[in-house]
Amino acid sequence: MNKHPSQFYTVEVGDSTFTILKRYTHLRPIGSGAQGIVCAACDTDTGQNVAIKKLSRPFQNVTHAKRAYREFVLMKLVNHKNIIGLLNAFTPQKSLEDFQDVYLVMELMDANLCQVIQMDLDHERMSYLLYQMLCGIKHLHNAGIIHRDLKPSNIVVKSDCTLKILDFGLARTAGTGFMMTPYVVTRYYRAPEVILGMGYQANVDIWSVGCIMAELIRGNVMFPGTDHIDQWNKIIEQLGTPSQLFMLRLQPTVRNYVENRPKHLGFNFEKLFPDVLFPPDSTEHDGLRASMARELLGKMLVIDPERRISVDDALNHPYINVWFDHDEVNAPAPGPYDHSVDETEHSVEEWKRLIYNEVMEYENRDRQRAMQNHAAADGATRNDKSAERMGSNSPNPSHPR
Ligand code: AMP
Repeated sequence: MNKHPSQFYTVEVGDSTFTILKRYTHLRPIGSGAQGIVCAACDTDTGQNVAIKKLSRPFQNVTHAKRAYREFVLMKLVNHKNIIGLLNAFTPQKSLEDFQDVYLVMELMDANLCQVIQMDLDHERMSYLLYQMLCGIKHLHNAGIIHRDLKPSNIVVKSDCTLKILDFGLARTAGTGFMMTPYVVTRYYRAPEVILGMGYQANVDIWSVGCIMAELIRGNVMFPGTDHIDQWNKIIEQLGTPSQLFMLRLQPTVRNYVENRPKHLGFNFEKLFPDVLFPPDSTEHDGLRASMARELLGKMLVIDPERRISVDDALNHPYINVWFDHDEVNAPAPGPYDHSVDETEHSVEEWKRLIYNEVMEYENRDRQRAMQNHAAADGATRNDKSAERMGSNSPNPSHPR
């Protein structure tokens, strides 16, 4: 079955043009990010509401291409309820030569966390959101993916308080500095080891969860640095200059800079997060109290990763473990991600082919799946009919009589 232009239609959304499969209708823009516009739509084949993200010429430069390719491959690999799932992917173009755009169809959520930060959450909701973030992060870690760039705009929620992480963060080889895009990169949630260019381990992502938790409580950004230097200043002003042991692990030039900053004592967590900022203690769950939330923050917002809480210990913390479900926390790891993808350099033309091949593989797989479903449905109808003709009373599990 070849792709036919009549399968697609074009619609303008904001400044963007979406050329999409006819099964998706009622498009409305719901967000935009570094890669392009995201629309909500109705999938008339399934009756489900979906989100469609358009990646415009994702191979246009190496930064875009690497990110789009990595995200696409990982979305296909990972399968966890706290990570956004890919429902479909397609391109309206018919050949590699014409190839321009990729459309990713995902589960639709209601809002991103930036919108939730303005709300007054009770402890139940706050700790449930954090629990789900940690489950998603743990699953990524199990697949060998350390995110390093979690932020509220890349976490989406539904009104029933379910949560999904939208992206897969920085590639191992990604520079954390300059990026060739007019899009402003948010760095407020990046851990000290990322800002200072140190090595990192899994609990680098705990720092970001700590910053997000702090923001949910305070209603504003915890460390709103305008650049890396300002970001570091904001951190030490509030948490205090880290120990000499930490300094010793810095590269000489960075260490020289960090050691020569004015010394700060920082504030204790009662001062940073006074009781008035918290909702009333839960009457149902003993762990869901301001004092416990503050204790957890004190273990997550630790500059030195050697002294910062691990993901597993955070999942077992009294403020989080009220929701602990073995199947959610220990969902089987997806196949490992092939990091060589991040390490190989490709030209724009090569990226174009790699991304196109991935989309084609997805389209073919989807087509095969549809044909199998169709054949199975056909077979079932035929069996039904022959059974009826034979006047059979034999039990049919899919059609109980
Ligand atoms: P992104 O391009 O992935 O960074 O997404 C940009 C914005 O679009 C996010 O901050 C969300 O507000 C929104 N968004 C993306 N994907 C979804 C989704 N599956 N459901 C709901 N909103 C989404």
